[in-house]
Amino acid sequence: MPVKPTVTVLAGPTAVGKGTVSTYIRDHYPQVWLSVSATTRAARPGEVDGVHYFFVSDEEFDSMVANNDLLEWAVVHNSHRYGTPRQKVDQALAQGRSVLLEIDLQGAREIKRTLPSAQFVFLAPPSWEEMVARLVGRGTETPEQQQRRLETAKVELAAQPEFDHTVINDRVERAAAELVELMGLPAQTRD
Ligand code: 5GP
Repeated sequence: MPVKPTVTVLAGPTAVGKGTVSTYIRDHYPQVWLSVSATTRAARPGEVDGVHYFFVSDEEFDSMVANNDLLEWAVVHNSHRYGTPRQKVDQALAQGRSVLLEIDLQGAREIKRTLPSAQFVFLAPPSWEEMVARLVGRGTETPEQQQRRLETAKVELAAQPEFDHTVINDRVERAAAELVELMGLPAQTRD
């Protein structure tokens, strides 16, 4: 029986590996369409415009908000704005594809209000210590930014009960397979 295309929101604390799990799904599960967000932050080395994010100016983001082009948006970590382009999600659903949104908690809450039929999955770390180690280890933030992200992470961890399901990110492949199964999709991968 064909699967009804749905929207699944993946949220969870900073540095839990949401990006890694969702990128793994994008690369290995062609049956899932991973939404590409717009952001006002600068690209990190290796990030490609239109693939990892749509990197936009503040003015461009303002006009997306004004035109109601975003399904949700938020200021993340008290710094930059991130949002989900609405039209692309609608297009993917119309093409019969199941959509995965990898967004922060504020965005997840907004989607819960505007699209209550979506499914909400919380990605949790195996432990707090492991999450701190990942954040420090990836070395993409300054110590001040790391501190700010860890403060946000504490608040975000407490939101777990708001979600329909929790997936523990102990191993990327396993967590990805569990998420795809929760999306009601066949768990066949593309190697
Ligand atoms: P990063 O700057 O590390 O790529 O992402 C920072 C945070 O922004 C992550 O927690 C990620 O989930 C969140 N994020 C990415 N895209 C969106 C989006 O479209 N909307 C919201 N609300 N958060 C997003």
